[in-house]
Amino acid sequence: MSEQTVLVINCGSSSLKFSLIDPDSGEEFVSGVAERLMTEQAFIKISHQGKKQQTALSEPFDHQIAVNFIVGVLEQVGLADKVSAVGHRVVHGGESYSQPTMITDEVKASIAELGKLAPLHNPVNLVGVEAAEQAFEDTPQVAVFDTAFHQTMPEKAFIYGLPYHLYKQHGIRRYGFHGTSHFFVANQAAKALQQPINETSVITAHLGNGCSISAIENGKSVDTSMGLTPLEGVVMGTRSGDIDPGIVFHLIEQLNYTPDKVNSLLNKESGLLGISQMSNDCRTIEEAIVNDNDQHADLTMDIFCYRIAKSIASFMAALSHFDALIFTGGIGENSNLVRSRVVRSLALLGLTIDPQRNSDVRFGKQGLISTDDSVKCLVIPTNEELVIAMQSAQVIAEQAQE
Ligand code: ADP
Repeated sequence: MSEQTVLVINCGSSSLKFSLIDPDSGEEFVSGVAERLMTEQAFIKISHQGKKQQTALSEPFDHQIAVNFIVGVLEQVGLADKVSAVGHRVVHGGESYSQPTMITDEVKASIAELGKLAPLHNPVNLVGVEAAEQAFEDTPQVAVFDTAFHQTMPEKAFIYGLPYHLYKQHGIRRYGFHGTSHFFVANQAAKALQQPINETSVITAHLGNGCSISAIENGKSVDTSMGLTPLEGVVMGTRSGDIDPGIVFHLIEQLNYTPDKVNSLLNKESGLLGISQMSNDCRTIEEAIVNDNDQHADLTMDIFCYRIAKSIASFMAALSHFDALIFTGGIGENSNLVRSRVVRSLALLGLTIDPQRNSDVRFGKQGLISTDDSVKCLVIPTNEELVIAMQSAQVIAEQAQE
């Protein structure tokens, strides 16, 4: 074990994922996830040395209880005093944070202020920060922002076709998300292609429950499909992605939806779940296609894949050259069906899938899935925890040098 081990914390509204990582080797010592927080069914799953254990959490079933439990586990396995930093995934860094940042009272205040742009995410990220501060009093805490990597986008990509003062006075613009993932897989792609990252231009498709596509020109994000919030872009597990904004007024004025109901409809009841009326889980939809020849599941998948292909094709406008298409995230890493349907709409970009390679590169493997004469298409498993650990360690090392 090296001197640095970073506890990575990723807080969601009702979940908390954590991982204790050596940022140099990438070795993960303990990891886990607390789910159903803020309910009486709250529990935590811990993985340590190949063993998994699940425990119910006690009152008040919140993020602090989960962090206290994690500290207890780290003490039990003799790793609590090895935590040299805590790295937090913070969803919205606005325009203030284009780099990972040591957390101070001032940084906490601006994460809270940025809660205006990400009310579902930033407040709960702060809860995680404060719980970790209590549990690891003298340990440096670092914020790694999901928006940071996209801060290199040019204005033409991030300004909406709205009155300009909404941007200037209220920060309404495209920010983009999944930045750590897009950053990681683009850098891995450059290594795989044996090219310097600052000469590598790729399109990265992060397809998980949330999905976003990014155009990366010479290692820098120049456009991305998610916007002010993670709702924009392609069709996702439960989010609609792009729709005609007029639909919102139609729902409110003609169908008597309240703003809350529209919000819930677009974020939680749409996407794969809403179209299929079956599930937000790609595996369930695939099974219905393959096992039951379910035509509606097939249509759902076609809509999902076509929209992803359209987004990828549109990003040709952002690039001066195109070295590779990269798939990542739970769906991108595992679903050869989604990959083949997306790429079959992209023949004009010079992309052709090799079916054998496509079915071989799954379940955590990295590799090429295109034919030899195609523009390259790679699958690269993402590792956001490792990026957060590495960037946290780097911030601490830089501060020690100052
Ligand atoms: P999150 O965005 O919550 O991190 P993930 O990146 O884990 O989500 O992706 C979850 C998605 O990945 C789900 O839709 C799930 O069905 C899909 N997925 C996971 N494994 C497979 C598989 N073997 N085949 C198809 N889809 C898969």
